[in-house]
Amino acid sequence: MTMTNEVPKLFGSLVFNETAMKDRLPIATYKAYKLAVLEGKPLDLEIANIIANAMKDWALEHGCTHFTHWFQPMTGITAEKHESFIAPTAEGRVIMSFSGKELIQGEPDASSFPSGGLRATFEARGYTAWDPTSYAFIKDNCLCIPTAFCSYTGDVLDKKTPLLRSMNAISKAACRVLKVFGIDTIRVNSTVGPEQEYFLVDKEMWAKRKDLVYTGRTLFGAKTPRGQELDDHYFGIIKQRVLGFMKDLDEELWKLGVLAKTEHNEVAPAQHELAPIYSFTNVASDHNQLTMEFMKRIALKHGLVCLLHEKPFAGVNGSGKHNNWSLSTEEGLNLLDPSKTPYKNLRFLVFLAAIIKAVDEYQDLLRVSVASAGNDHRLGANEAPPAIVSIFLGDELTAVLEAIAKGEVYDGNPQTYIKVSDDTIPALVKDNTDRNRTSPFAFTGNKFEFRMLGSMFSIAGPNIVINTIVAEALDYVAGKLEDSADLEADVYDLVKEIYTEHKRIIFNGNGYADEWVVEAEKRGLLNLKNTPEALPYMASDKNIALFEKYRIFTAAETKSRVNILLENYTTVLGIEGATMLEMLHKDILPAVSCYTKDLIRIAMEKKSLGIEPGAEVDLAKRLSSYTDAMYKASLKLAAALEECEKIECPKAKAEAFFEKVFSAMTELREAADSAEALTGGKYLPYPTYGELLFGVNE
Ligand code: ADP
Ligand code: MG
Repeated sequence: MTMTNEVPKLFGSLVFNETAMKDRLPIATYKAYKLAVLEGKPLDLEIANIIANAMKDWALEHGCTHFTHWFQPMTGITAEKHESFIAPTAEGRVIMSFSGKELIQGEPDASSFPSGGLRATFEARGYTAWDPTSYAFIKDNCLCIPTAFCSYTGDVLDKKTPLLRSMNAISKAACRVLKVFGIDTIRVNSTVGPEQEYFLVDKEMWAKRKDLVYTGRTLFGAKTPRGQELDDHYFGIIKQRVLGFMKDLDEELWKLGVLAKTEHNEVAPAQHELAPIYSFTNVASDHNQLTMEFMKRIALKHGLVCLLHEKPFAGVNGSGKHNNWSLSTEEGLNLLDPSKTPYKNLRFLVFLAAIIKAVDEYQDLLRVSVASAGNDHRLGANEAPPAIVSIFLGDELTAVLEAIAKGEVYDGNPQTYIKVSDDTIPALVKDNTDRNRTSPFAFTGNKFEFRMLGSMFSIAGPNIVINTIVAEALDYVAGKLEDSADLEADVYDLVKEIYTEHKRIIFNGNGYADEWVVEAEKRGLLNLKNTPEALPYMASDKNIALFEKYRIFTAAETKSRVNILLENYTTVLGIEGATMLEMLHKDILPAVSCYTKDLIRIAMEKKSLGIEPGAEVDLAKRLSSYTDAMYKASLKLAAALEECEKIECPKAKAEAFFEKVFSAMTELREAADSAEALTGGKYLPYPTYGELLFGVNE
């Protein structure tokens, strides 16, 4: 039990953070470290040796025996290989040692991590390099050092390296723009606060469902009489067992320095959300990985399983991740704060215009950055933003830009107040963005919220894209304004030019409406409906050129990433298809047949007594026809899986999986769910949707 007044002491207690460093490093070493971080330069070995030694002493005091380079390969999750601190002495004993070299660089065997064809298997060596901007921390008595991961030849094999590069790119470009406005700052940081959605289900029930165990989502399951229709779960009272989980989770995350802030129930039954306070993007990305990992392990302690899949249950809201993103200077100035009078805030207008241009020009990359088999179930399904990328600005900012485009002076009411009551409660300033929930890329007061991410995603990918595309647009605007003689006039001209050219991307209406799909097509916006359709866009000439220009990925790296993502898509569908077949033959068919047999027996017995067995015969007939339909669909699915597996080209293979495997899966599920709905409860081989979703009662 933690007393509440201990939280500040608890916070960051397992992190080698500023405080620990200041306490334990000689002042000169600490300063050299800070400078290296600020300038993005490597540490020299002497300094690294001193830091490593202090880190080791700190870790040993906290009970560590091992250290690991903690990295994020392209599997989307984290990887670690534990090494002990022991080093033999001449006397046949051991001492605990940790050198600067071991801190800065590691050499894990990389042969089993996806490289998309970049690395030949004979060259299995990979390198990990310390990211000194993300603090080392302790997990399971192991000192974890956040690192970037690359191959022997320098090819990028992870999500961290390009993220750091994209942060440097946007910093440079933003500093250039700020200089135009007379602001000299050494660095601009992109900041992110990712809101994480998840489901909790009872562990014993989970274990009975092969689909949840193997694939993280249900592949079968008839609808419950009650889903989320009553809207009573969102922000509803949190159940005791879940509260216990949330409390433990907060504590563990706080120890790791994760700023877990808000925990609440989400729309669907058994669905919840955690939002942290925002931090620098690389730290937010590391912390989000830790958050997901700890959600899973702490759930188990409470007899629960945490589902991070984007769509664990058909017909019920899925889970996403809202990526709140902004830019701030080293001094803490939020560059997306419009102030009270955005029309007069030239600097804000320039940053806003750059983002509009970037999002319009690189709709495809943003869409690709959120493409996955799991997320295909959400995007465009009226529960998450559509697959079409657009920007929500709200009425006021749109009016400001419209005025500028017409060459008019905006003189609208800059701030409106919502009056809550006459005296006791003070008036609330109305957010100048009135909370449009259906927009994929929404301006929400002083930041943009990219809402298309799936709940399982590493946030690295989408933020690499946002940072890089905005960096390019900022370089463009800097180029236009750097030699300006009349900054005000030139800014308005530039904003007018950009807004006029890119206003098609702005949409303040309802993104779930069918009319928007038609309207978006008229505007020429992309609507990439599924993963196999979206992914190839990543390797277009335009996008390869962008990544090369900002040294994020080489052309080969971009292409390899597309292949990894395509392969991932087909692998996921392959596993899902195979799991369906196994469940059908091992569980569903025997259960339905058993019930049918019993119905037939009853019918025969009734008949022998002269009772007309109408219901039993009818039910048995209907179940038989579903059994046939299931069986036929299963043959189709098996054939589709076999045929599609043979395709060599990753793109053609992913398309074939979508067309053949996915459609056969849908057909099989329809028949099986109809059968399940008619089958007696005691015959069912696994817990139903109702039991899973409403099963955690206490
Ligand atoms: P909502 O559910 O209304 O979208 P939340 O409070 O749940 O809002 O989440 C908002 C998220 O935005 C939080 O993680 C918060 O820290 C983050 N955020 C706030 N300001 C910034 C900023 N300047 N940069 C990045 N993220 C931010
Ligand atoms: Mg949100």
